[in-house]
Amino acid sequence: MLDLTENALAILERRYLNRDEKGEIIESTEELFDRVAKSIAEIDLVYGAKEEEVAALHDRFYHLMTSLDFLPNSPTLMNAGLPLGQLSACFVLPVPDTMEGIFEAVKNTALIHKSGGGTGFSFSRLRPKGSVVRSTGGVASGPISFMKVFNTATEAVKQGGKRRGANMGILRVDHPDILEFIKCKEDKSELTNFNLSVGITEEFMAAVRKKETYPLRDPIGKKVMGVLDAAQVFKLIVEKAWESGEPGIVFLDRINGDNPLQHMGEIESTNPCGEQPLLPNESCNLGSINLARMGKDDGRGIDYEKLKEKVHLAVHFLDNVIDANTYPLPEIEARSKETRKIGLGVMGFADLLTLLGISYDSEEAVTVAEQIMKFINSEAKKASMNLAQDRGTFPQYHGSRWEKENMPLRNATTTTIAPTGTISMIAGCSSGIEPLFAVAYTKVCMDEDKLMEVHPVFKRLALEKGFYTPELMEKVKKLGSVSMIKGIPDEVKRIFVTTQDISPYWHVRLQAAFQKYTDNAVSKTINFPRNAHVKEIEEAYFLAYELGCKGLTVYRDGSREGQVLNVGEVT
Ligand code: ADP
Repeated sequence: MLDLTENALAILERRYLNRDEKGEIIESTEELFDRVAKSIAEIDLVYGAKEEEVAALHDRFYHLMTSLDFLPNSPTLMNAGLPLGQLSACFVLPVPDTMEGIFEAVKNTALIHKSGGGTGFSFSRLRPKGSVVRSTGGVASGPISFMKVFNTATEAVKQGGKRRGANMGILRVDHPDILEFIKCKEDKSELTNFNLSVGITEEFMAAVRKKETYPLRDPIGKKVMGVLDAAQVFKLIVEKAWESGEPGIVFLDRINGDNPLQHMGEIESTNPCGEQPLLPNESCNLGSINLARMGKDDGRGIDYEKLKEKVHLAVHFLDNVIDANTYPLPEIEARSKETRKIGLGVMGFADLLTLLGISYDSEEAVTVAEQIMKFINSEAKKASMNLAQDRGTFPQYHGSRWEKENMPLRNATTTTIAPTGTISMIAGCSSGIEPLFAVAYTKVCMDEDKLMEVHPVFKRLALEKGFYTPELMEKVKKLGSVSMIKGIPDEVKRIFVTTQDISPYWHVRLQAAFQKYTDNAVSKTINFPRNAHVKEIEEAYFLAYELGCKGLTVYRDGSREGQVLNVGEVT
């Protein structure tokens, strides 16, 4: 029997376990992990491994996952070893300025959503609203109207797919329709299957600082079509984000500055939750190490030996996924195999901090974050170089930054911090690098009963330090937070600080700490209390820019009901 929580079993049963045509479940949880481990390990045969080596690897992959030390992204768990076989969470599709091209992208989006993947698009190439359409003499309806088509298609696929589709829509800040884009979620019923981000340029940021205007450019030919007051546009973005959490921002020039594959063209978009910048038609598969399981047994410090072993095995796993994958389109297969990007990240970071006795909103937490991610990033690179010795570098290595730095890598990128919305629930840990959401959480049982569980480390500390009482535990369950409860020592309260009690400043600091040692980007929500001022959101945006983040997503308590979820929706 595997050591999975009831929550995890319920999620696996509802969405992940294989079913026959009648919808009956036809595999156990053990069989699910075995199916995934086997099909991913068998890829080694292609690279000349012997049968017995593959059997040993199969075993190691099985334990890597069933120990909950590491889990791959949802599509890999759902589809590996099955006929559909689509294993990636992240795609970016090109949206060219032609009717054929736009509707081709809509079709491809539907195919990807059906298989559990998420899609990101830049709509910046589309001619602005009101421009002339040569063939008909009519006027173009502009990027936002086409986004609505993508949104409706996503809605329709929802009924047939394994999970609700998710999209990212990006428009460059210098696109002539940018004001309409920034305001387009004023109506909360619009574009509900999209996360929106404004593509911020260095030119724009400089103009904001100097309180100057900046040019709007025709996407075709780049002719200047007008100017806007940069500070006012920035203010509008901030106001709208305060109202609804959207749009977010992505620093496009920074993403391209850090892009190791500049010889392949420009990155225009990320995947839906923002953590994976990709070239048009590129895909990426993700996986996350559960840091809650990387503490030393005595609770003092991090078990770096164990972490190293898991990172090497996980990189091997993710590189194999690229070959085991069945791609939705030939052009996506070609692109993805040229760059062989993988995204290894972490989950359970907040749980690890409780084990170490460190408060999330502290310099110590920033230090731990940097140390861990630096280690993971460097070991992931070593693992990728080891693979390259046997399997060769990724085909686009020549001309890449890695070649200039003399780092023969198998994968153009190795690290990404994913939201881990569903896989963290399967692993029973805190999601991604987010703080604890609460000190007690809901358990969904098979029969839909809801039970409350108190965080196990809190319970243990309460017993050890002698302040455990059943009444106190009931209070924690009721409030979810310990900050207002009497009878809990202050140092314990500090360790169990929850999202709502953490200032945006620390949220951004932690995002930046992880970004420093991550090839791709970091998924993080910067939470604000309901009564936050617009100015505070502006400050968070500037701080993120100054600290080297690749983008920012904010959320003010109560400002949005249903959001395009990174969390796994149990349907
Ligand atoms: P998981 O925990 O299910 O593996 P994450 O929450 O870490 O997934 O999200 C990783 C990426 O997976 C997202 O950025 C997005 O690209 C994709 N994704 C997440 N949720 C969905 C969804 N409901 N539909 C389609 N793609 C999704």
